[in-house]
Amino acid sequence: MPLDPATLIFLNVANLLAMSTALPLVMGQNPSPAAHRARASMMISAAAWLALILAGFWREQWPDQLLSSLAMALLSFSNWLIYQALNHWLGPRPLGRLLLVLVLATPVGYALSFGSYPVRVGWANLLIAGQLLILARATLLPTRSEFGQGTWRFLMFGCVSVMAVLTATRGVLGAWFTELYPFFRAPTPVNLTALVATNVTLVLGNIAILAAWREEAQQQLRALVITDALTGLSNRNGWAEQAGRALRYAQRHDYPLSLLMIDLDHFKRINDTYGHEAGDAALQFFGGLLKRCQRAGDVNARLGGEEFCVLLAHADTAASLAFDQRLRAELAQAAPQAIHFALDFSTGHALRQGRDETLEALMARADAALYRAKHAGRGHLVSANAATR
Ligand code: GH3
Ligand code: MG
Ligand code: MG
Repeated sequence: MPLDPATLIFLNVANLLAMSTALPLVMGQNPSPAAHRARASMMISAAAWLALILAGFWREQWPDQLLSSLAMALLSFSNWLIYQALNHWLGPRPLGRLLLVLVLATPVGYALSFGSYPVRVGWANLLIAGQLLILARATLLPTRSEFGQGTWRFLMFGCVSVMAVLTATRGVLGAWFTELYPFFRAPTPVNLTALVATNVTLVLGNIAILAAWREEAQQQLRALVITDALTGLSNRNGWAEQAGRALRYAQRHDYPLSLLMIDLDHFKRINDTYGHEAGDAALQFFGGLLKRCQRAGDVNARLGGEEFCVLLAHADTAASLAFDQRLRAELAQAAPQAIHFALDFSTGHALRQGRDETLEALMARADAALYRAKHAGRGHLVSANAATR
């Protein structure tokens, strides 16, 4: 079956244009920064290939030099955008500066060396292969633990690696074995393979982008499920997950762990006096205060209403009391300015017991202590592990 380079190039541009039109339709008006960049990369890549087709009408003349150099710049920029998308999806990726140098050097070197086919083809293809290798590296570890677990990373790795190898081969042939790759549309085996691979990896690469976008959407949904919208703290779902994990860890390594059940005092009165909005602001403010007082390994959450929970790792009763005092002092100091009225709370404390106490049992003990704190006049901590506070 004879394969024609011009047809393959035309198909590639048609596919790129179709996909860069379809992606906005699928992703909607406001995609995430990562999806936005991946999508833009597709459009810019389409423009690059269009420029290459146009350049073919003036082979080796100045419009060819201009359009081909523009194509190299656009192709490099589209790789840069994919790198940016990976940065957003997977966290900071390595070799960004080197990629930027290659992205800038590719079109500049190509334009300057246009007079020599071996130099310009070797230069552009080898540098673009370098860009693709950096992209391949960027799809690999390390990733943030909560993202990038899907197989799309490996699909993208496969696509850019294959294209890196074929592009490098084109560069080597163009530079040192020019008769095997004498011009852009040459129907040589390597060129035909590269053009077929360009079409196939375009389809697979798009699947990878859509899968990454889907994983991102799932993650956002999951964040909504475990986060309290008003304070940004974990909600009851998030609490059960994180506190359960922290408790099991403390049990396995046998260190003290304290649970504080905190309930704002006379909150109904605050709503009645200052209004529901001021009540909401007070809850937000208190949530922020809890976050600021949090140490690594601690867990906090808004369980509902004006009730909060804090899990302090490596904290015994004395350390918990100290935390409670610090929180009270900061609240007393900051509340008048931040929310324009005083706010106080009662705390029930329970220190974990034994190796198999459940989170529910620990919470029930802290809750009983909180009940005692309320009945003993509010505004202080009562510990389940002590007869008195
Ligand atoms: P106590 O000291 O015994 O805890 O008294 P309290 O008034 O704080 O407790 P109670 O359970 O009687 O009332 C809790 C109040 O918290 C009633 C409810 O309107 C208010 N509340 C619960 N959720 C929210 C919220 O999201 N925003 C606001 N503004 N108020 C809330
Ligand atoms: Mg209350
Ligand atoms: Mg309450």
